[in-house]
Amino acid sequence: MSSEAFRCVNCGAPLDVSPDTIAVVCNYCGYLNWVRADLKEEVLVVKPLDERELLKRLQEFASRKRLADVLKEENIVSKTFVAVPYYFVDVAAEADYSGKVSVQVRKCRREKDRETCWTESRSVFVKGVYGPYENRIPVIARRGTEAVSVKALVSKYMGGKAEALPIESVGLSKSFWRGVLSIEVDKKVAMDIALNIHLNKLREVVTSEIKREAERTARRWGETVVGSTIIWKRITPKNIRATTSKPVLLPMYIASYRYGNELYRAILCGWDGDVIVLEKPVKACERALWTALAALSAGILGGVGIATVKAYIGFLLIILGFAASWYCMRKALAPVKAKIFGTSALGSVERGFEKTLSLTRWWT
Ligand SMILES: [Zn+2]
Repeated sequence: MSSEAFRCVNCGAPLDVSPDTIAVVCNYCGYLNWVRADLKEEVLVVKPLDERELLKRLQEFASRKRLADVLKEENIVSKTFVAVPYYFVDVAAEADYSGKVSVQVRKCRREKDRETCWTESRSVFVKGVYGPYENRIPVIARRGTEAVSVKALVSKYMGGKAEALPIESVGLSKSFWRGVLSIEVDKKVAMDIALNIHLNKLREVVTSEIKREAERTARRWGETVVGSTIIWKRITPKNIRATTSKPVLLPMYIASYRYGNELYRAILCGWDGDVIVLEKPVKACERALWTALAALSAGILGGVGIATVKAYIGFLLIILGFAASWYCMRKALAPVKAKIFGTSALGSVERGFEKTLSLTRWWT
């Protein structure tokens, strides 16, 4: 299938279509073209802020974080909208369950002034119905897109109140349409993915419920519970219901900036301008620290390894030393440190978990 074969229904411009593409937005006129006409449906979009507003938010963020000279406007070399298509699938299910649990209980006996204690096990049978267990599961309508930034974006959307509107009713700029990712997963597949996730989760939840219930029963018998193991269990989901939203385009805004000789990205949530991911240069002192650690770990583990009498342990330690120093060296050489800013869904402004990201353009 060559892309020559597909042209925009509205303006005739060539469309970038892969074998998986279901729907694609024309880069030139913004018209939504359905490659698979049988799957035609409405697409919703969360309206982004305009570019000027987004850049203003980025500057405000920069001055709050004392990065004003790093993120200043003349350092920004490219600005792009990317709109990620998502389905939101509401899933509900119940489960019949039964199981046999071995509950460990503590027994003590007092003889004169000495107390002796031991553990015994009690066999407890449990049975019941769990649920309804409900969830809203986001499913990305693309294959192989597992970026942290996208996850942060979707959890922000799910925790917030941004409204998704029909695509035709929102006036959007050309620069926005250029970044709309084509839809590659249809409704049915999205629902299957969501169901799979949901039922696995349900099984997990019911499994711990079986244990909890058995322990509760043993406590009701007056026992002191110290632990439990499931001997066997049967979990049968029933009354499974799933409904999905229309595909929703979630906009994000990516500003690439140059600092020194490297390129970094700031990724903003498109509809409210919050920074969700910021890549920034690793400070020279941090690099120095990792380099030092690399040398140390190789030296210590390697040294111990050579001194060890048992050959295979020594060999193992040397390998470990190599691995540790390789890890530290990689840290030292990584030019980029990415900071992911928490979303309202997680309930805080900044949850400092950091991750080194590669600079590959995952969204193309
Ligand atoms: Zn067009």
